[in-house]
Amino acid sequence: MIYKVLNNGIKMPMLGYGTFQVTDAAECKNSVLEAIRAGYRLIDTAQAYGNEDAVGAGIKAALDEGLCTRSELFITTKVWFRSFETEDCRKSLDESMRKLGVEYIDMVLLHWAFGNVYAAWRVLEEYYKAGKIKAIGVSNMEADRFIDLINFNEIKPALNQIETHLYCQRLEEKKWLEKYSIAHQAYSPLGQGRSNEMFSEPAVKVLAEKYGKTPAQVILRFLVQSDVAVIPKSVHTERIRENINIFDFELNEDEMLSLQALDKASPMIGNPEAPEKVEFAMTW
Ligand code: NDP
Repeated sequence: MIYKVLNNGIKMPMLGYGTFQVTDAAECKNSVLEAIRAGYRLIDTAQAYGNEDAVGAGIKAALDEGLCTRSELFITTKVWFRSFETEDCRKSLDESMRKLGVEYIDMVLLHWAFGNVYAAWRVLEEYYKAGKIKAIGVSNMEADRFIDLINFNEIKPALNQIETHLYCQRLEEKKWLEKYSIAHQAYSPLGQGRSNEMFSEPAVKVLAEKYGKTPAQVILRFLVQSDVAVIPKSVHTERIRENINIFDFELNEDEMLSLQALDKASPMIGNPEAPEKVEFAMTW
C-alpha cells in the first residue's frame, strides 16, 4: 500500500474501499470484511449511504478476526448538507460514530457544498480539535469555494473527494488542490461501472496486456501514479481483490501520457457546476 501524508501530517492510504450503493446490510458487512481481508485499510462511507452501521459491523468482524488493529484502519464518512446547521451537524457526527462503532473517525467530509457550509465546517473543526476526528475535508467542492472556506476559517481542508476517472481527470482542479496542499481523492474512479467504453479504450487494453493486468487495474494504477487517491467499490470478492492488486507494476512516462490523452474533462456523475444536477441534489 502507498500512503499520502495529508497537510496535517496524518497518513492516508492511496487506495480504499467505497461503499456507495451497498445498501443490503449483510452484503455491506461482508464486502467490508472481504475488503479488509484483501488488504484495504481505508473504508469510505457516508451518512447519506444509509450503511454506516453495516460498515461498522464489517469493521468489527475484521477486528474480531484480528485482521488488523483499529489504528491501522482509516475510516471516512461524510455529513449530508441537510445536517449542516450546528446542532444537526453535531448530531450527525455523533450518530456516525455510534453507527460505525468507533471512538474517533479518521476523516469526515462535507458531502456537498450546499446549505450552511460554514456552520458545518466549524463543527468539524470543533470535533477535530477534540480529537474525535483526525482529519477534515470536503467533497464535490470547486476551487472558488474552498479558497473562500480556507480564507475565513482556521483549519484547511485536508482532502477534496471529487469525481475523477479516465474521462474526467480534473487536471485543472488538481493544480488548485496542489496549490493549497489539499489531497485529491477520486470518487467513481471506474466511472461507476457505467462506462464499458473506458475499459475498451485501446490505450488501456495495450497496457493491460503488456503488464498482465485488467483494464480496471490499469486505470486505478494510472490514477494512483497521478497522485490521485482512489476508492473503488465492488460487492464481488474477486473484483475487490483485483482492484487492490495494483502495486506490483509501474506505468512509464509515455504510458502515463497515453492515458492522460483520454481525458474529456467532463464529469458523468456529480457536477456541482451543473445547475440541473444541483436542483436534483436538492430533492434529496
Ligand atoms: P466506481 O467507479 O468505484 O465503480 C463501481 C462500479 O464498478 C460497480 O458497479 C462495480 O460493480 C464495478 N466494478 C468494480 N470493480 C470492477 C472491476 N474490477 N471490473 C469491472 N467492474 C468493476 O463507482 P462508485 O460511484 O461506487 O465510486 C467509488 C466510491 O466513491 C463510492 O462507493 C463511494 O464510497 C464514493 N463516492 C462518493 C461520492 C461523493 O459525492 N463524495 C459520489 C459517488 C461515490 P460490482 O459492485 O458489481 O462489482
